[in-house]
Amino acid sequence: MDKNLEDYSHKRFNILTGEWVLVSPHRSKRPWQGQNEAVNNEKRPSYDESCYLCATNTRISGDVNPDYKGTYVFTNDFAALQSDSPSFEVNDGLLQAQSETGICKVICFSPDHSKSLADMDVPGITEVVTTWQREYKEIGSKEAINYVQIFENKGAVMGCSNPHPHGQIWSQSSLPNEVFKKDNTQKAYFADKKSSLLGDYLSQELNGDRDRIIYENDAFVVLIPFWAVWPFEAMIAPKRHLNSILDMTEEEATLYAEAISVLTKAYDALFNTSFPYSSGIHQAPTDGQDNSHWHWHMSFYPPLLRSATVKKFMVGYEMFGTPQRDITAEGAAQRLRDLL
Ligand SMILES: [Zn+2]
Repeated sequence: MDKNLEDYSHKRFNILTGEWVLVSPHRSKRPWQGQNEAVNNEKRPSYDESCYLCATNTRISGDVNPDYKGTYVFTNDFAALQSDSPSFEVNDGLLQAQSETGICKVICFSPDHSKSLADMDVPGITEVVTTWQREYKEIGSKEAINYVQIFENKGAVMGCSNPHPHGQIWSQSSLPNEVFKKDNTQKAYFADKKSSLLGDYLSQELNGDRDRIIYENDAFVVLIPFWAVWPFEAMIAPKRHLNSILDMTEEEATLYAEAISVLTKAYDALFNTSFPYSSGIHQAPTDGQDNSHWHWHMSFYPPLLRSATVKKFMVGYEMFGTPQRDITAEGAAQRLRDLL
């Protein structure tokens, strides 16, 4: 790797979104005098009677959760998207609006209130993966649904109000902004080169210095992307060019679960805390179009910077200019790799 990238301020290009990130490696040693986040390393009970996601408890809607044993999925009681709203458009000069419909669901990963993905075993995580596959297929097959966004918010610092292990699915009739950008870049590259943009990037990483690779198995790569914004941002991507999570074989689904397990365990070990993050899967839209340019992947955006209590803020220049990071992607990958 070019030595200048370790010592001098520069910007890196995100091939998937077409946007830049500012990297300032010389700043990573500056002292911190700002806010510290409170850490809660208290062990939670396996069952909490006040938790609306624990088995057999009553939710605010009045529905009672079944005595579920593995994963459990239900329609969000406070959905951000409504499936029954009317179709309308506002075109009033420069004021433009369109109706948006969708379906929002909640997925409990386990009945055990005390666990996170990092604490679950690979068979347990594999069941989460097969649940994602089932929901993506079922929701995506609906006429009005053209994109299915699977994600998880973990930790109070990420605005997650309930520590019970769970994720969400928001699906809708149009492509969300981030997906729209990645759809365009991958489509253009695929049309030009007849190969996968992300697949070619992974090949370059695997055949290069490997200084951004955290872990790999037969089917998946876990790495810090060259253009990562968040300090310990990571990506899990299949080595094969697969459009969506439905294209995985059963064996690949298990290897994907293994990759999730390795990464989340390393995260927890990094600052000796239950590591907060937002993670999400970007994959082929369910709009019935030719989406063969898509190479699905899962991204993790964790906010912690240098300890369990010091968080990275996206403020000032990052709000008004460009996202910026101090610790390099290579430095972050090294630290996570050392924990495996
Ligand atoms: Zn619970």
